[in-house]
Amino acid sequence: MTIAIHQVRLIDGTGTVRERMTVLVRGTKIAAVGPSNEVTIPKGATRLNGRGLTVIPGLIDCHVHLCLGGEADVVKTLESEQPSYTLLKSAKHAKATIEAGFTTVRDVGSRDHSIFALNQAIESGILPGPRIVGAGLAICMIGGHARFIGREVEGVDQVRKVVAEQLAAGAGVIKVIASGGVLTPGTSPDDAQMTAEELAAAVDAARQAGKPVAAHAHGASGMKRAIQAGVRSIEHATLLDEESGALMKQYGVYMVPTLSALATTAACRPGCGIPESALEKAKAMTKRHKASFKQAYESGMFIAMGTDAGTPFNFHGENAQELERMVALGMSPMDAILTSSARAAKLIGFHESVGTLAKGMEADLVILNRNPLRNIEVLRDRETIVGVMKAGKFVAGPLTNA
Ligand SMILES: [Zn+2]
Repeated sequence: MTIAIHQVRLIDGTGTVRERMTVLVRGTKIAAVGPSNEVTIPKGATRLNGRGLTVIPGLIDCHVHLCLGGEADVVKTLESEQPSYTLLKSAKHAKATIEAGFTTVRDVGSRDHSIFALNQAIESGILPGPRIVGAGLAICMIGGHARFIGREVEGVDQVRKVVAEQLAAGAGVIKVIASGGVLTPGTSPDDAQMTAEELAAAVDAARQAGKPVAAHAHGASGMKRAIQAGVRSIEHATLLDEESGALMKQYGVYMVPTLSALATTAACRPGCGIPESALEKAKAMTKRHKASFKQAYESGMFIAMGTDAGTPFNFHGENAQELERMVALGMSPMDAILTSSARAAKLIGFHESVGTLAKGMEADLVILNRNPLRNIEVLRDRETIVGVMKAGKFVAGPLTNA
């Protein structure tokens, strides 16, 4: 089956915008992209008139937790659920994610290995959802942050063993916890967690399988340890300082800002159900987080978009709010789209198949009836999304049944 979207405005993930373009999709892939007066539409192709519409690459969120549902107290919620119930819930979140135009996500911590079963179900077509690069269980120190979706370890031998377990189960990325966090009581975001040796062992064990490591870190000391250990991305990077910022640039490490995570938590009033300790930590760090993001963007650091969807009031399907937050802090709408497409694809190692719209790439794209370069907020408006295509098939939006 061939689908031709013609006379459309094209944002292809390379930083350019071109008018009156044709995108030709054959099977699961993009067969051609070019000016409408140059691309020949084959006979029998389904034609979609793209006048007034904009095509962008399928969006990529590099930091989600499909097993969490944005509940006020995610730790308590997870503890009250049967693991299989959590998996069913995750499937619902995957559907909401793809309906929002996100065709790929990196899941950086789930309560067990069922994230890989969910991925299998989506890949085989029995459930709707994005492509998933999963970490499985996050790896943390004993009593460390994120232990409610993690494995607690001590010593390099155990780190290696647990990394191997995640890889064997199907992990495409390894997640380590290099500082305290907001949601885990009794841990401080300022404190480094896991030793330099343990972090280096995780990176080495993952590297042997060709997989990158993503490190959760709020405070600068945890960031520095993780960067020097060789991780590929720092998640949150909330309290960036000059030194850690310079190190990230030097090592080519990505920042995955997750502005939405702190912002949605900090926006809550006491009594909203978010544990007091989490609320206080989020409120205390929000301003610094914004400054860190600005510092990173202005310094030209690699930034890949991530929401931390699943954390309190940070709902799956609302992922595009992160682009709004980045633009509000000075990022251009084009850069916000790039951090959520080509650059995100590069971080997760999928850049040869998704993230840009060019011949030979997987046909993952979103068709919009408004121009996100003019107003980035339109991405969060469901009325704007005309169609979400994954691997050549419309999977969400009014075009699904066309
Ligand atoms: Zn997270």
